[in-house]
Amino acid sequence: MKKVLVTGGLGFIGSHTVVELQNEGFEVVIIDDLSNSSIDVLDGIEAITGKKPIFEKLDLREKSDVEQFFKKHSTISGVIHFAASKAVGESVEKPLHYYENNINALVYVLKEMIGLEDSNFIFSSSCTVYGQAEKMPITENAPVQPAESPYGNTKQIGEEIIQDTCKIKSDFNAIALRYFNPIGAHSSAKIGELPIGVPQNLVPFITQTAAGLRDSLSVFGNDYPTPDGTCVRDYIHVVDLAKAHVIALERLLENKNSSNFETFNVGTGVGSSVLEVIQSFEKVSGESLTYKFAPRREGDVISAYANTEKANNSLGWTAKSTLDDAILSAWKWEKKIRNL
Ligand code: NAD
Repeated sequence: MKKVLVTGGLGFIGSHTVVELQNEGFEVVIIDDLSNSSIDVLDGIEAITGKKPIFEKLDLREKSDVEQFFKKHSTISGVIHFAASKAVGESVEKPLHYYENNINALVYVLKEMIGLEDSNFIFSSSCTVYGQAEKMPITENAPVQPAESPYGNTKQIGEEIIQDTCKIKSDFNAIALRYFNPIGAHSSAKIGELPIGVPQNLVPFITQTAAGLRDSLSVFGNDYPTPDGTCVRDYIHVVDLAKAHVIALERLLENKNSSNFETFNVGTGVGSSVLEVIQSFEKVSGESLTYKFAPRREGDVISAYANTEKANNSLGWTAKSTLDDAILSAWKWEKKIRNL
């Protein structure tokens, strides 16, 4: 049984990935400092898979703790690195926190991995690296644009640091998965997204508004050059995204990678506008949503959706769920945690 370290494994995407890894027979060790997650997620994972993963509460900014961890777990075959701070707006207010948490922690993990026999690394990157791409859908060859925020910059710098690491160790293998917009929850509604404070993302804001936690949803901008004037994004079900991680890891473990640093877009290839997401929510939930138009929000790109051919053809991965499926799962989860 291959042992995999999942950093940030109690978070939104990490927890769904741990489920898929355990379902595929991997032994999982989670590192999380619980800065943006709850220990109860472990019970949710156990309830779904029948197995509680090994858990180490550890802050990856503590270099000596990271060193100790790798001494204790020297038989790790691969690392999936989710742990990071992820709020774009907060990163503008607290850039040094973002550089410390997203870059220092990454470096400490990579330093330890250099010493491992099996150095297989999957990195949580983001479509933010493309900024406002000129051509839609976006391929992996689209140029990386100057980052709009310290958060976005940590993803670009992170990819560069990993690439440089691959250059000094030919058997250090890495894949950066560039996520589009992850949404939804496990179909069991035993794990899902748990935003702390006011959600920064559209779907949790919608479900919280429908659940009565927020008065109304603000749609930022209705005069964009898109079919209905609202921003267009590529919403990917978190379970599809989680499966992409397992497939990417297996690609490295089976030496099927074509170079020791690869990037893949992980999206559906379908662009949906904010109004289409609202319509989908109203359709699948049977609820009507209170929303109003507000001015454009600084830093929002107009449109971003993925060309997924590389992931489809090289990874053999395709998103299976529709927008409606993903939104229904998010609503089921919201209702469960609010006891509705
Ligand atoms: P999340 O906040 O739900 O999960 C991150 C987890 O990492 C949390 O459980 C948190 O407690 C943990 N963590 C943070 N700092 C840590 C540290 N120093 N030591 C140990 N644990 C730490 O976020 P998510 O949505 O699951 O995102 C996972 C990754 O995917 C992040 O790297 C994020 O930047 C990236 N990403 C997310 C999205 C998105 O929309 N959710 C989009 C693109 C990329």
